Amino acid sequence: MKEMQKYAKQLVKDMNWEIDDANFESSRTSLLNNYMLLTTEVGEVAEELRRLFNITYQEMKNGTNEQEAFRHGVETVQKDLGKEMVDCLAYLMKMANFFEIDLEEAYYEKMAEVKKRENKDVGVIKK
Ligand SMILES: [Mg+2]
Repeated sequence: MKEMQKYAKQLVKDMNWEIDDANFESSRTSLLNNYMLLTTEVGEVAEELRRLFNITYQEMKNGTNEQEAFRHGVETVQKDLGKEMVDCLAYLMKMANFFEIDLEEAYYEKMAEVKKRENKDVGVIKK
């Protein structure tokens, strides 16, 4: 992750896509723009899930059993779903780099917190 973040920092610089840090207003505009782009990519992840479910239902309608239809759907969307996840990651890394957040370190810290936390959801069965 550290290597990816370093790569992302250089890529953003090379492409002239850096978050503007000239002053508060330009940083604010730039951060909001990046945040907006991140949320559009999250929406694109949802579109791929929608495509997966539609493929599955369509194949089931055509007589394929559920498990096989779902497996085929997963295979069909896998590459594009991965691309949308990477788009999300790219915007997250860009923002993390702006704030000088080490995502690898922050991830392990946060997950350690989550592991200690009691699950407050009722009726959720974790596998
Ligand atoms: Mg995308």
